[in-house]
Amino acid sequence: MGAISAAVQVCRKRIDAACAEAGRTAECARLLAVSKTFPANAIREAYTSGLTAFGESYLREALDKLDALADLPLEWHFIGPLQSNKTRPVAERFAWVHSVEREKVACRLSEQRPSALPPLNVCVQVNVSNEPSKHGVPPEQALDLARRVASLPGLRLRGFMGIPEASPDHARSRFSLLRALLEQAQAEGLAVDTLSMGMSADLEAAILEGSTMVRVGSALFGSRNYKEETP
Ligand SMILES: *Cc1c(COP(=O)(O)O)cnc(C)c1O
Repeated sequence: MGAISAAVQVCRKRIDAACAEAGRTAECARLLAVSKTFPANAIREAYTSGLTAFGESYLREALDKLDALADLPLEWHFIGPLQSNKTRPVAERFAWVHSVEREKVACRLSEQRPSALPPLNVCVQVNVSNEPSKHGVPPEQALDLARRVASLPGLRLRGFMGIPEASPDHARSRFSLLRALLEQAQAEGLAVDTLSMGMSADLEAAILEGSTMVRVGSALFGSRNYKEETP
């Protein structure tokens, strides 16, 4: 068995153990494999291990992999910062975007979504740590943006995404803030069902707070060797 297949099994066990600890059903959180910086062959191995949903952050790199893997029935998620002049290929080729943080980007994604495809699934990214350098809308603006996304015909609002600061002390409270937003959105009648939260280091904490989709990169593919953010 390859290293990635073994890592997929370990990760699934972690998810199931966390779901059990949380008193939730097994496989309560979907596993989104974050394949940024890793080659198409790594994604093929993950696919043969049963994974079908992959997350990418850098658009050019992602599009090369979508082309190279067009023979596989994969579900692609865009999870990185998205500039408004780069929305078209995302609207045309991805199933999900987790990182919507501006109304302008949402409007363009909606306009550019081909009508032959189902609406693009969208999570509003929330700056849960409230650090100015971080991506996402401030928590107090998240519901406004969510309502706007829900009103756009080419989009389907699914929920919220957030990335807590690396310190484990804060993870639970940041994740519970996202959960509170989801509950508020549901209370006002928005059809949301997704909390995209938890990564390699903190997926257990996220699942305890209600995560429905964990985004896991290094625990599946190994450590990345290039920088995290594009300008
Ligand atoms: C890179 C990345 C991940 C995966 O992080 P790991 O710590 O490698 O699991 C998850 N979410 C986003 C938005 C990312 O950019």
